[in-house]
Amino acid sequence: MTLDSSVSELRGVGEEVSRKLEILGVRTVADLLDYVPRRYDDYSQIDEINKLKPGMVTVQAKITQATGRYVRRGMHVTEAIASDDSGSVRLVWFNQPYRTNAIKAGKDYYITGEFGMRRTKLSILNPSAELVSDFPVNTARIVPVYRETKGLKSAQIRKLLREAIPLVRNLPETLPEWVIEQYNLMPRSAAFEMMHFPADAKLLAHAKRRLAYEEVFSLSLASLLNKYELLQKKAVAISFQEKLARDFTDSLSFNLTDQQRKAAWQIYQDLAKTTPMNRLLEGDVGSGKTVVATMAAIMAVEQGFQVAFMAPTELLARQHYQTIQTLLKPLKLTKKVGLLVGGLKKSAKQSMQKRIKAGDVQIIVGTHALVQEKVTMQNLGLVIVDEQHRFGVEQRKSLQAKAEFMPHVLAMTATPIPRSLALTLYGELDISLINTKPQDRKPIKTSICSPNSRAALYKTIDKELEAGRQMFVVCPLISESDSFPAQSAEQVYEKLSSRDFKHRRVGLLHGKMKAADKESVMDEFVRGKLDILVSTTVIEVGVDIPNATVMLIENADRFGLAQIHQLRGRVGRSSHQGFCYLMLSDSTQPSRRLRALESSTDGFALAELDLEIRGPGAIYGTLQHGALDLRVAKLTDVKLIAAARSGAQAFIDHQENLLHYHELHERIKKLRAVTNLN
Ligand code: ADP
Ligand code: MG
Repeated sequence: MTLDSSVSELRGVGEEVSRKLEILGVRTVADLLDYVPRRYDDYSQIDEINKLKPGMVTVQAKITQATGRYVRRGMHVTEAIASDDSGSVRLVWFNQPYRTNAIKAGKDYYITGEFGMRRTKLSILNPSAELVSDFPVNTARIVPVYRETKGLKSAQIRKLLREAIPLVRNLPETLPEWVIEQYNLMPRSAAFEMMHFPADAKLLAHAKRRLAYEEVFSLSLASLLNKYELLQKKAVAISFQEKLARDFTDSLSFNLTDQQRKAAWQIYQDLAKTTPMNRLLEGDVGSGKTVVATMAAIMAVEQGFQVAFMAPTELLARQHYQTIQTLLKPLKLTKKVGLLVGGLKKSAKQSMQKRIKAGDVQIIVGTHALVQEKVTMQNLGLVIVDEQHRFGVEQRKSLQAKAEFMPHVLAMTATPIPRSLALTLYGELDISLINTKPQDRKPIKTSICSPNSRAALYKTIDKELEAGRQMFVVCPLISESDSFPAQSAEQVYEKLSSRDFKHRRVGLLHGKMKAADKESVMDEFVRGKLDILVSTTVIEVGVDIPNATVMLIENADRFGLAQIHQLRGRVGRSSHQGFCYLMLSDSTQPSRRLRALESSTDGFALAELDLEIRGPGAIYGTLQHGALDLRVAKLTDVKLIAAARSGAQAFIDHQENLLHYHELHERIKKLRAVTNLN
């Protein structure tokens, strides 16, 4: 057997167990060794029987003959007595008839189970029992608990690992020897062994630290390599022209906030350099990022460069197009703005492409498909990417016409990325933060609602609609689904338009509709021709409709915190009070997570909380195409992160050749594509 052997070569793994392991992502022995426990139970403390207290206990005792019998309604009970020097205790198993024969009377066992009341007698209930040895698996030690699947329990996974564990010796080391020494790390194979079969708490902590270090080290190294690669490239310098910046800000109907000013200034400094800008403009929904991005765009346009402005959806591209045109009107630059999206007629598209090629259009607004469309830019100086989390060197290359220059890139996101995560994952990026909102906004009032108060809620909402405001209803599904019981946009649209709000104008919007239909529904909503828009999360980012003040999110418990926070940013974008109602799937108690949304409107605080509760994979997983895989490292472990980042920097400073580290190299290749946020 080798690391690459199929798990089916392990004893007791037939077709069925294979299939279950596959569900857990485990195919080979190496996968099994790599299967990280979710948590641990500490059963290493052996108790004396006469001192047992209710709760989980572990004893070392001789077991008398076990006897089984069927009691009422087919329930089977096995009973035995376990005795040590201090006393005896009854063991009881329910519906495990095989125990009767499995127990070897008179032998010494480790027994771990719940000490509790059975009928009127204290007993150890459903215990694990194994013969005393120097390598217990399920008892008398710190025991790992794995993510399980139906019919495959941790005890079974441990048993398989017990057989496979000698092979950890073959696991290759991934980190350079000097890193292991300098940062006092456990060798990799030892760390995996201790992770599954920890000798004690201290060694377990040491093992976890090693594995966590490796995760953060790899991410940091990938991100640093991206950064240095980019620093080798040349970009065109777009110099700062004070008069233009002043003319623009003077023409706005509002004053920029201090943070908008600061962000714009940082961007202007980057643009003036001959190395490509790689900056992330991070700001909560409605914080005014678009204005700042436009300030960057005009500087490039003024000096004869083209700007590509990319949005995640066609809807948003159109909206950005409108916004930018409005913002540029006083400067008389509007003729230079063009829209290029898939929904355009073929002829319109072609003529736009021609104008772009001729340099007639200088700000090209489109979806991310701009990268794929056969657009030839004259002189691309700046790329602005809204809410897109992958725009790397490859994407830059495909957009640029002349190979000698890399465009500057400004990415914008409303997803609050906690600092710890940003440093680890996006260490290559410079970050500008806008975390204050324009003053005249009232914080959105968020309330959790239970389905049995729906009628009352609709009455409350109708008062807002009566006053001329509009409402979004967001559903997790487009159509009804058997496999995922939740409200669908189609169903809800049906109910609201024919029953609950039949006196109002209701529209439906979702991702499966034709582009033209989507557009016309959205347009009606924008123009106030609809009171209610039932939709899916397609409205998630960027949509700006100041008169929409109410948002109702169905099955709110099915959404992530960060996602709901983004969604509710669609309302309360004016001086009217905004309301967000979080409708639960059923009448059970809302989670701590959801309650946090009621009390906090701080996107960063919510993201930190989401990170703590669900982990980075769950929150950023979709953005990262599932590859962000911190299984052991905790982003709250500041010391470890600092050590791993300094190790990665040292790796580069030592001019280590990644090719000498095969495993690490493979991992880094994958990660580089991921960390390329922008
Ligand atoms: P974001 O892209 O960050 O979600 P936007 O740039 O779309 O936010 O801005 C939201 C709204 O706030 C827009 O209508 C914009 O004109 C307005 N706005 C932006 N900056 C300010 C400001 N400093 N004061 C008042 N309103 C502003
Ligand atoms: Mg926006």
